Amino acid sequence: MRYIFGNWKMYLNEEESVRLAREVGELSVAPGFSCAVFPNTLSFLPVRDVLRNSSFSVGAQNVSWVPRGAYTGATSAELFRESGAAYALVGHSERRYIFGEDDSAVRKKIEACIDVGLVPVVCVGEEKHDRDNGKAEYRVKKQLMKVFEGLSIGTQSVIVAYEPIWAIGTGDACSDTEAARMIGVIKEYVAPYHSGEIPVLYGGSVDAQNVHTYLSHGIIDGVLIGKASTDVTIFEKIVTEHT
Ligand code: PEP
Repeated sequence: MRYIFGNWKMYLNEEESVRLAREVGELSVAPGFSCAVFPNTLSFLPVRDVLRNSSFSVGAQNVSWVPRGAYTGATSAELFRESGAAYALVGHSERRYIFGEDDSAVRKKIEACIDVGLVPVVCVGEEKHDRDNGKAEYRVKKQLMKVFEGLSIGTQSVIVAYEPIWAIGTGDACSDTEAARMIGVIKEYVAPYHSGEIPVLYGGSVDAQNVHTYLSHGIIDGVLIGKASTDVTIFEKIVTEHT
């Protein structure tokens, strides 16, 4: 299975999200591909309803690890799962760096997703200075170690997204060969944690022009797309020409 995921972040309001979902829902996805969009929490339910009979799943951009209770402002993995989410982004760099989410929170969110059968899409990636100092692999392995060490995944699906921070939203996409190399490193590192294979996606300034370069590498199991997924003309090209 290969994956094309669209993270709509907080780019769209509810009306815009529903409109985009209607257009996206018309797209056909080739067998062997699994596609999903991640609307904001407010738009999750209407987008889910629009996409109910389409080829697209709906995911959560963020989840809380506590299931229910007195947790003001939180929406748990359990609530998202009950409401039809198939996936949840966990540890996206914007959550880590803007909202101060640390590895222990990321770990708890992964466990919460696994507990309720929501597939966590665990985002990891190095900063520019790590890369410039030859520490990209070290940084990513450290993130993986902190969230995977001792984790009981069983047969539950987990996805990893390699998203170098310097490539997110900058137009400075990681080259496909380097993304493939890093994904090889990640796959080798996470292999002992799962009986099957953990799919690893690339994310960071993917667009209609460069997407084929990533998908031409068998080792890259798909792409996680931010900005370009909110433009239906671009997203349509990506989905229809590459699945
Ligand atoms: C992302 O935020 O996950 C992402 C990949 O964003 P963009 O495609 O806009 O770089």
